[in-house]
Amino acid sequence: MNRNIVEEIRAEIRRFQPQTLRKNVGRILHLADGVAFVDGLSEVRCHELVRFSNGVKGFALNLEEDRVGVVLLGDTSSLRAGDGAETTAQLLSVPVGPKLLGRVMDALGEPLDAKGPIEATERYPIERQAPGIIARQSISQPLQTGILAIDAMIPIGRGQRELIIGDRATGKTSLALDSILNQARLNAQGLESGDPKFRPVYSIYVAIGQKNSSIARTIQVLEEAGAMGFTIVIAAAAADNPANQYLAPYTGCAMGEWFMEHGQDALVIYDDLSKHAIAYRQISLILKRPSGREAYPGDIFYLHSRLLERAARLTAEAGGGSLTALPLVETQAGDISAYIPTNIISITDGQIFLDTELFNRGVRPAISVGISVSRVGSAAQTKGVKQVAGKLKLELGQYYELAAFAQFGSELDAPTQQRLDRGARIVQLFKQPMGQPLSVEQQILLLWSLQQGYGDDLPLRAIGEMRVSLPAFFGTHHQSLLDALGQASGFDAALEEQLHSAVKAWKQSLILPSLAAA
Ligand code: ATP
Ligand code: MG
Repeated sequence: MNRNIVEEIRAEIRRFQPQTLRKNVGRILHLADGVAFVDGLSEVRCHELVRFSNGVKGFALNLEEDRVGVVLLGDTSSLRAGDGAETTAQLLSVPVGPKLLGRVMDALGEPLDAKGPIEATERYPIERQAPGIIARQSISQPLQTGILAIDAMIPIGRGQRELIIGDRATGKTSLALDSILNQARLNAQGLESGDPKFRPVYSIYVAIGQKNSSIARTIQVLEEAGAMGFTIVIAAAAADNPANQYLAPYTGCAMGEWFMEHGQDALVIYDDLSKHAIAYRQISLILKRPSGREAYPGDIFYLHSRLLERAARLTAEAGGGSLTALPLVETQAGDISAYIPTNIISITDGQIFLDTELFNRGVRPAISVGISVSRVGSAAQTKGVKQVAGKLKLELGQYYELAAFAQFGSELDAPTQQRLDRGARIVQLFKQPMGQPLSVEQQILLLWSLQQGYGDDLPLRAIGEMRVSLPAFFGTHHQSLLDALGQASGFDAALEEQLHSAVKAWKQSLILPSLAAA
């Protein structure tokens, strides 16, 4: 029981070291799209790297009685049937470590940026066993996305797996990217403060099957925000071969695991697993594996579960590191009951559902409150957030229901009208532009003020202004009060009293003139 778990994990890596594998040679029987069928490789292991006579590499995926299906990597146009092949006694592995931060790499960990070779001293196999139950502990620390609607209602904890799901162009990537930017911002702040207890979160963004232009834009956003220094980007674009798209998430995961196993925190984003499933389906069909639902091979569930199971929060004994995973999935016409979405919903600890209709109505981020959940994250919420966010989801749910009735124009009694007004203001507050993260203290302040009725007499369009000006006012005049809000102890009567007078002062100072103009 008290064996050192990190040692155990390292021993497991050693078990897979080259010397335990035997080499042998064979030749290509025939070639299909991106796959070579090879005979003679009787000693090959699944996922072992195979080298062909002209330098092309691949990895063994189908081990059959008389032949092996090898998935080819890179440019394969020079290969012909009859070419020689040899096993390399190496499992697919990628460089890992802190030197990777700031770099853009392909699915094999080769640099794609112009910053020279990757200076890593360690390599991890891309397929690993997930940490066992003894090495894990429950979620206890929040992963702040800076997005009010998420942190307040669907909180994510370090080590959690939370799915971001929605149709095309509903803001999935933006949400993930904003989370990375917020980590970078918090890291910079935390490291500057010199607090010895501060633990940075390193991010790994895995782009699968996206257009090159989208990936380039993402990298540009990260660079402009100064977040690249805390981030690793793995790119397997749509134009890349399916093998690379299939491998990319495992590569990103292995790189994240390095941080986790070294007692640090990492966040990995798989953008997105629908395209990953499609790449794997393509490979599987060429390998002639039997196809199942929606023509996906039967092991697609296992493929995703063994990837997402590798996210964890390790016990203090095992170093206390964590790997948080945010997989993204694209739905067709909001259908979350399709095969891949249901699979991944069942593997993750909750989902953030983005709704096209809300998005088109201007509610952005377009989070659908009713069907978004986080099953474990609230354990990691700070006391202050819990106090203000407790009833939020219920209130919003009731608001949406009432609003549906109210549109028939029936007479409404005063309490109903008041609930409607309050709900409309919460929705308005949750509309958060990209790249404008809010700190925990600011989030608590805003929600508390709204719940105390300070937004009720403001016109709806002033709520967006409030989201910016109220925290700014506190930043200038009441920084200590703002700091107190972020403390673990939550609210007490004295603090609330101070808050009341400060928020009143803010209303006097700023909003009233614009109210008058309304
Ligand atoms: P795809 O399916 O193409 O990958 P996606 O779901 O990842 O799309 P994004 O690319 O993140 O969606 O966003 C789509 C558009 O919505 C972008 O133009 C982005 O600028 C806009 N958008 C996303 N979030 C917000 C927001 N909070 N406020 C305003 N605009 C937003
Ligand atoms: Mg996207």
